[in-house]
Amino acid sequence: MTARVLVVDDVELNIKLLEAKLSSEYFEVIVADNGPVALELAESEMPDIILLDVMMPVMDGFEVCRRLKANPRTADVPVVMVTALSDVADRLRGLESGADEFLTKPVNDTALFARVRSLVRLKRMMEELRLREEVCRQFGNSEDQAKLADDGKAARILLLHENNPAAARLRDVLEPVAAALHRAPNCAEAQTMLDSSIELVIASLSMPDGDPLRLVSQWRAAEATRQLPILLIADPGELTRLAKGLDLGANDYLVRPVDRNELLARVRTQIRRKRLQDRLHENYSRSLSLALTDELTGLYNRRYVFAHLTELMARMPEGGATAVMMFDIDHFKQVNDRFGHLAGDDVLRELAGRALRNVRSVDLVGRLGGEEFVVVMPETSLGGATIVADRLRQAVADEPFVLAENGEKLAVTISVGLAITGQGEDTLEALLKRVDDALYAAKNGGRNRVIAAPQRPPHPIAVAS
Ligand code: GH3
Ligand code: MG
Ligand code: MG
Repeated sequence: MTARVLVVDDVELNIKLLEAKLSSEYFEVIVADNGPVALELAESEMPDIILLDVMMPVMDGFEVCRRLKANPRTADVPVVMVTALSDVADRLRGLESGADEFLTKPVNDTALFARVRSLVRLKRMMEELRLREEVCRQFGNSEDQAKLADDGKAARILLLHENNPAAARLRDVLEPVAAALHRAPNCAEAQTMLDSSIELVIASLSMPDGDPLRLVSQWRAAEATRQLPILLIADPGELTRLAKGLDLGANDYLVRPVDRNELLARVRTQIRRKRLQDRLHENYSRSLSLALTDELTGLYNRRYVFAHLTELMARMPEGGATAVMMFDIDHFKQVNDRFGHLAGDDVLRELAGRALRNVRSVDLVGRLGGEEFVVVMPETSLGGATIVADRLRQAVADEPFVLAENGEKLAVTISVGLAITGQGEDTLEALLKRVDDALYAAKNGGRNRVIAAPQRPPHPIAVAS
């Protein structure tokens, strides 16, 4: 994930340190050494996230945060307050001024990347949801928009924790923000207590009966729990397992002793993300009923995809980029000729499923018609899109398609064209032409390959096959 991070600190060494860490993970870094400059840059540069020092002359971090959150143009940008370890009072004040998260100085890498990623994901999802709701409205959906700024309260939480005073303390902290708070005393019970109403699992790493990381891995592998937020709680001696847990797909963590305000801030972030995600799905069902989806595959249809792209391009920030992927089945006519039209339809449906499984939830998958599909990937570079495109190409080519009628296995391949937006005076037509040309080049180049249009036309170049 790439993202633009605004680092605000009055001490140059602190800025340099964070800049080096973030750049090494390919984040784009913008810096400000005082509050007023930070406010200006937040408006002009549209960062994805702001890391904000508290103690600064001229204007302190609390005031900066208050102003950011009061300005509609910057209110959605997540703010992480960077505070000294002992400043529990600062954290409380930070929350009151609207901060989304905390980081403790000296900033450790695991914490930095976990928090930045989780908040950037939240912001992206929020943007995508706003966009989809706007497009739905254009098609005459007059349904009132529920408010986007969910407060993350009335949460339904499953706490996986042994029965000890620490569990009781967590309960006390969580009770006011929870509509339901169940505790599982061991891994086996956690598995049975987990149902679809649960919005967040908080799991202690030190369970007596088994390894909670095994659960993390199982939950991530299963369709129903893939998006379930998981927050780990670890002892200071368990940092290696903690890193493993984040690798396996846990969303965030806290280290004991657990700070009350930190716990509440993290729970709130995860719950808000989960609810946005659920709303993206609901939104999709709503567009189904508005005839914006394709009957055969259930994907968005041509009409919707073009409206979505038009809106997306209209609100694209300076320097932003959306990648568009178009793919088409190779020699699909032969499938119909040899196995019949119904078998062809099976292949189209299965392909739609594979496409959905191989992109992120903010990416939009559509069927333009026939055996031609499209994926719109907001805020994605050509390099990033190429990786996704090639993963999808492989997911199609590596696993034969099984025909429902007779179980016969069929080798299918696709050719993929890619292009990105945001090149000066770009138009939807010009963009689609570039993608189409790239797809044509992939076909001509021998099929079963990905070709990206160069950032500036006219000659497509091969990037993967
Ligand atoms: P290429 O590798 O160049 O893409 O070859 P192709 O055979 O895939 O391309 P062509 O455009 O010649 O043929 C596309 C075929 O897709 C023709 C049409 O019968 C079939 N097709 C289009 N829509 C549907 C559909 O909804 N269901 C089925 N089963 N087939 C479809
Ligand atoms: Mg300072
Ligand atoms: Mg084809």
